[in-house]
Amino acid sequence: MSLNPHLVKESFAVVEPVADRAAAYFYGRLFAENPHLRGMFPPAMDVQRDRLFGALTRIVWSLDSPDGLASYLGQLGRDHRKYGVIPEHYTAIGNALLATIRRFAAEIWTAEIEAAWVAAYTAAANAMIEAADADAGISPAWWLAEVIDHELRTRDIAVITLRPSQRMPFVPGQYVNVQTARWPRVWRTFSIANAPREDNTIRLHVRAVPGGWVSTALVEHTRIGDTVMLGPPVGTMTPSDSGRDMLCVAGGTGLAPLKAIVEHVISSGRRPNIHLLVGARHTHELYDLPDLIRMESSFPWLRVLPVVSDDAGYDGMRGRLPEVMERFHSWAEHDVYVCGPPEMVNEAVRRLQWSGVPLANIRRDIALGEF
Ligand SMILES: Cc1cc2nc3c(=O)[nH]c(=O)nc-3n(C[C@H](O)[C@H](O)[C@H](O)COP(=O)(O)OP(=O)(O)OC[C@H]3O[C@@H](n4cnc5c(N)ncnc54)[C@H](O)[C@@H]3O)c2cc1C
Repeated sequence: MSLNPHLVKESFAVVEPVADRAAAYFYGRLFAENPHLRGMFPPAMDVQRDRLFGALTRIVWSLDSPDGLASYLGQLGRDHRKYGVIPEHYTAIGNALLATIRRFAAEIWTAEIEAAWVAAYTAAANAMIEAADADAGISPAWWLAEVIDHELRTRDIAVITLRPSQRMPFVPGQYVNVQTARWPRVWRTFSIANAPREDNTIRLHVRAVPGGWVSTALVEHTRIGDTVMLGPPVGTMTPSDSGRDMLCVAGGTGLAPLKAIVEHVISSGRRPNIHLLVGARHTHELYDLPDLIRMESSFPWLRVLPVVSDDAGYDGMRGRLPEVMERFHSWAEHDVYVCGPPEMVNEAVRRLQWSGVPLANIRRDIALGEF
């Protein structure tokens, strides 16, 4: 069975514009043929559908980059252990996926394309199964964690400290999937806002999205002493060891992983100059400023620059983060980390590239899709 990324990409490009319908068909088919699998998924499938296509898109477009793909599939396989996924589920998913692509790319479908999809899916599923098997010997599938602190910093942002029941190794900049008791089987990703600590605790910065299942449960309905479930830490926005000076651009709770990275640099003993731009729409949304100012006063090579976009009366730096970023000298020699709402991140990365920062020196959060 030989891999043919070109044929897979070509046929996937036909399906991408109708991704919503294809994802609905995929799950309909999966559950019709395997009703027992429905119980593994959350009651509402909207986020799940996006995750499926997010993951599939990333896999298909990475087929030509074996190293990046292998590391992504490894994370995906390890992360799927928390759902209780076993090898035979991959067969069921593979059958439903093939039926979906065949149907939505019907006008170009050939036996060669089918063979290319079977080969690509088999290789991807095997990589995930192998990574999950290897992880099973050394790490739990998920962690229980007790809420040991819950600070409501604004009406809708909480800083939550959790103590996992077992050691949970992670790299600064990574995130975890969280499930609350209020919504079984509904998992959402939140960045870890600290570097690893002796006491094994982690912090999350959570903004309650109006009508959001998990964020609202965490901000409004979670108390000290409650328990949540955590998936394994994942994500690739981790600190570089280049030794270059750093620019960190944080929009809203996008501050969380960047704070973890700055804490890591502090504890490493390195002393690069760090500019940390922290953006919010309104002054009161700068929910972590006192703590950041404390850090800044202890480490003179760290500059914390709060930026507010929508408060005309704010007497500090005003504007949108991607624009404010350009008011400084060039960042071309810096390592840059960007995290926040997708539009902000995309614009910041575009502007940084225009201004001469090599893409290789820019790290941003990339969501880990799941299916
Ligand atoms: C890699 C990664 C890291 C993340 N880290 C954090 C973090 O550290 N802190 C944090 O607060 N969030 C973080 N998020 C977002 C988080 O995972 C959830 O998407 C968010 O909390 C909403 O989940 P929910 O279950 O409350 O809402 P859902 O039930 O999923 O959504 C409810 C409604 O709100 C809309 N919605 C969803 N998200 C948003 C949003 N961000 N803004 C406006 N509307 C929205 C949905 O379209 C839907 O209509 C991160 C996301 C990713 C991908």
